[in-house]
Amino acid sequence: MTYQTINPYTNEIVASFDDATIEEVDAAIGAAHDAFLSWRDTPFSERTAVLAKAAALLRAEKRRYAELLTLEMGKVIGEAEAEVDLSADILQYYADRGETLLETIKVPVAMTSEGEVEIVSEPLGVILSVEPWNFPYYQVVRVAGPQLLAGNTILLKHASNVPQAAAMFDDLFERAGLPAGAFKNLYLPHDLTEHVIDDPRVRGVALTGSEEAGSIIAAYAAKAVKKSTLELGGSDAFVVLKDADIDKTVEWAVFGRHWNAGQVCVSAKRLIVVDDVFDEFIAKYRTGVAALLMGDPMDAATTLAPLSSQGAADKLVIQVEKAVASGAMSEKLGAKAPAKGAFFQPTILTGMDSSNPSYYEEFFGPVSIIIRAKDEADAIAIANDSPFGLGGSVFTKDTVNGEKVARRIETGMVYVNHPTMVKADIPFGGVKHSGYGHELTNLGIQEFINKKVIDVVDINAAF
Ligand code: NAP
Repeated sequence: MTYQTINPYTNEIVASFDDATIEEVDAAIGAAHDAFLSWRDTPFSERTAVLAKAAALLRAEKRRYAELLTLEMGKVIGEAEAEVDLSADILQYYADRGETLLETIKVPVAMTSEGEVEIVSEPLGVILSVEPWNFPYYQVVRVAGPQLLAGNTILLKHASNVPQAAAMFDDLFERAGLPAGAFKNLYLPHDLTEHVIDDPRVRGVALTGSEEAGSIIAAYAAKAVKKSTLELGGSDAFVVLKDADIDKTVEWAVFGRHWNAGQVCVSAKRLIVVDDVFDEFIAKYRTGVAALLMGDPMDAATTLAPLSSQGAADKLVIQVEKAVASGAMSEKLGAKAPAKGAFFQPTILTGMDSSNPSYYEEFFGPVSIIIRAKDEADAIAIANDSPFGLGGSVFTKDTVNGEKVARRIETGMVYVNHPTMVKADIPFGGVKHSGYGHELTNLGIQEFINKKVIDVVDINAAF
């Protein structure tokens, strides 16, 4: 069985679930399509009421929802509660704005003979949402919130290690009053993914995950001529300029690299520090990282969680070994990781440059690549020397210059004096190998919409 809950703190199997059969998959597609035919015409007031109710349920039962996240993928309980809040915020964002995000646009035309032109927004149909385990609720809501508001319906294929978090959404949306079939979690085996995407009733696919999975799923969508969005990996640059407030910057760097145990697409994975402040920064960073406390993620005192699985921890060990074999220097920090569980000892990698193949890889865990830059221009060049283009940040007391530097960084998002943020009211998306398309806000809701042009011409107008 592919779908299993394995507690990463103990490595014990908690529960296993059968893969969906092709008959179950076809039935779910049929139900999602039938639900779409009425949901698309359901008044916005009813759609927003469902989203608001789902948000309220998440908030009311925050602890229960949070504990499941900590059990299934190991994140510390405080971060799990914050994820539940963030997911509720996203649902509420769309509940509050409703129809205003999809208002009909009048198109000004030069001649009366061109008619009255408008652009109306219509949902496409059933959307397949393929999501990763690192934020098991937030990732789902990022797609489901806007797309349900838009009138689309959703089939969810969640990561195989968070099956119970995935199933929570069937229950949540049912209790919130969503019609049957409009959202369905499927324990979809990989070999049925193309079958789903090929089905004419399925009109698009939104994937968040690795580059590898993204290119496979997007190829299925392209073959079937369907819209896809890809939110993929990243290796965010965290640029420290010579006038940065080093103490505060170090605090953000330690947080930015280690929250969610470093398993965030927008983690500060490459710390690029200009020569003038490099030695001070790295000394203070070592101290900050060494102070992180590994332990039971259910314990509020724990500040560094285990990784999501033993497999993820083992993969990271090999990745660090390869980086070292190609010339990097590795330094382990802090108290020794607990012997049991999927823990990974926080590690700093220095001496990395473009001659090391690992330099261009994403390290998904508490591994910090620290790079010395000659000056600001060199720091920008290093930041842009990456196949990824997701987020990034610049630390400086001169925010005017910070904004200028931000404009020169080739990513989808750049923050000045903050690691890349994840908020309900800020759009999210990357470029280059980090994917295409946007999620959240008014940008995210447009991704699976037919922007239909309607032109009403007066038959009596001159030719
Ligand atoms: P992953 O292996 O690509 O898995 C993501 C999802 O894709 C899972 O549901 C997975 O299902 C599914 N999947 C993978 N291969 C598939 C295939 N051939 N057919 C059908 N489904 C397939 O990613 P991950 O390693 O779990 O997640 C971490 C990656 O996601 C990192 O690269 C991270 O940076 C990225 N990420 C990006 C964002 C963003 O917004 N840009 C956000 C979070 C994470 P199974 O579990 O069944 O394999």
